[in-house]
Amino acid sequence: MKPEIVRTLRALREAVAGWKRRGESVGVVPTMGALHEGHLSLVRRAVEDCDRVIVTLFVNPKQFNDKKDLEAYPRTEEEDRELLRPLGPDILYVPDAGEVYPEGFATTVSVGRVSEGLCGDFRPGHFDGVATVVAKLFLQTAADKAFFGEKDYQQLQVVRRMARDLDIPVEVVGCPTIREEDGLAMSSRNRRLSPEDRATAAVLPQTLMAAAESIESGADPTGAIGTARQRLRDAGFEPVEYLELRGADDLAPMTQLDRPARLLVGAWLGNVRLIDNVPVTPLN
Ligand code: AMP
Repeated sequence: MKPEIVRTLRALREAVAGWKRRGESVGVVPTMGALHEGHLSLVRRAVEDCDRVIVTLFVNPKQFNDKKDLEAYPRTEEEDRELLRPLGPDILYVPDAGEVYPEGFATTVSVGRVSEGLCGDFRPGHFDGVATVVAKLFLQTAADKAFFGEKDYQQLQVVRRMARDLDIPVEVVGCPTIREEDGLAMSSRNRRLSPEDRATAAVLPQTLMAAAESIESGADPTGAIGTARQRLRDAGFEPVEYLELRGADDLAPMTQLDRPARLLVGAWLGNVRLIDNVPVTPLN
């Protein structure tokens, strides 16, 4: 029954080799599980675009800079499989840590530039962990297309850069952020918010969108960002790690809206770290 659970690289490779012999295209959706509508939107897109789809579920220890965060990360494999069933992906690949990082594993993939600043400053080693595991998943699955959410915008740019730089023949497809009704970007970490903080959390996207609109209508980015930061602090976000305008493709810092940009935020609410971002587009 689909999706078939595959736990070893050997079995994964066998399945993929069969598909490739028949000339079928392969899509991959890397996840850490605890699936929600955000993940499912990527899987739907993959199923539309590709003949065969692999969803990966691996809580990657190398990308957690905080051991408590790794321990607290939700693990819901059975529910995840049930959620995937109606969408029709072929394989749910669930390797254990020993399968991904066997004894003696000693390689790190480290992407410069786009991984600097923003989350890169506050989560040391995080993007090395992401780039390393995603490079492995690209090579293991031999996927033609890989689907990532814009929710993790810096991650999307890191993965794009890595695939290009290493000549991995995969097309990285960025998919829009799926939000709750009040605008909060869906995230596996949202379930750790207290009910009170969950209500406050909607201030994050509201503030981001208001600042983006004001910059688009000609406000000075530095001033608009200052106002937005204060609004977040007043609502109880502490600390606001970053709130910055960056180039949409290269993530270079921007002080004027002279090309397509992204406004990105990372901030804590209670003991949960939330991130979000929105496009900021010059009007002419
Ligand atoms: P994660 O399981 O958090 O590592 O996320 C796996 C993939 O799902 C990544 O490509 C994320 O960017 C994407 N994703 C997570 N949340 C959302 C969301 N709310 N909307 C769209 N994509 C998302």
